[in-house]
Amino acid sequence: MLIDTHAHIEEKYYGKIEQIIRNANANDVSIIINNGTDMQSNQEVVKNLSHNMYGAIGIHPENVETYQKEDIDYIIKNIHNPKIVAIGEIGLDYHYGKENRLAQIKLFETQLAIAENYNIPVIIHSRDATEDTINTLKKFHLKGVIHSFSGSIETAKTYLNMGFVLGVNGVITFKNCQLKEVYKNLTLNDFVLETDSPYLTPHPYRGTQNEPKYIKDISEFMAELYGTSWQNIAENTNQNALRIFDKLTIPMV
Ligand SMILES: [Zn+2]
Repeated sequence: MLIDTHAHIEEKYYGKIEQIIRNANANDVSIIINNGTDMQSNQEVVKNLSHNMYGAIGIHPENVETYQKEDIDYIIKNIHNPKIVAIGEIGLDYHYGKENRLAQIKLFETQLAIAENYNIPVIIHSRDATEDTINTLKKFHLKGVIHSFSGSIETAKTYLNMGFVLGVNGVITFKNCQLKEVYKNLTLNDFVLETDSPYLTPHPYRGTQNEPKYIKDISEFMAELYGTSWQNIAENTNQNALRIFDKLTIPMV
């Protein structure tokens, strides 16, 4: 059994989500952590919680200009839901510029403080912002996932030493992806599996819409990288997910 620790299963991408869950189950993916990015998607995450579907709610840095105070209140209001396992997807993104750097850091810190206060893990988005991400996270006592990690081995070790694990997704299956070298220097304790559906579809399905069912392919890819079985990758990454997400339980099969 496998876990997709990071997906965006929204009606605007998929229409009816039941089929997505059926496809996932048919490929040994029993748990999906659905990540919100703004008020509307957070509400949808909460609405779609189910046997297979856990949730993370948060305000993504790309929404720093438009979020409202009530969007933060909504996160706090729903934090005690037993199926809401993290605050996410939150973080810093300077890919399109740093004009709103301080506003991003403020929004990030606001949500990290809530996570610390309520003792809940975080799912971190960091793009072209490694130094600020590390310095901001260091102000808090938190654990969580560095979603779609794409840095150096040194950066990986810094995050691991801070109590985070790395999220690995379809990007690692892309030709010439440098991440393979990074992961060869890590262990099976250091990462969890994710798809980031509907984005980042793994090879050889690129060009089609990503789905949680492709976790199976990512687990097989990692198995080959580490010279082991996908079942062993599943066992280890499930344990890592359980270590990070306190509210997660793995269904008996
Ligand atoms: Zn995401």
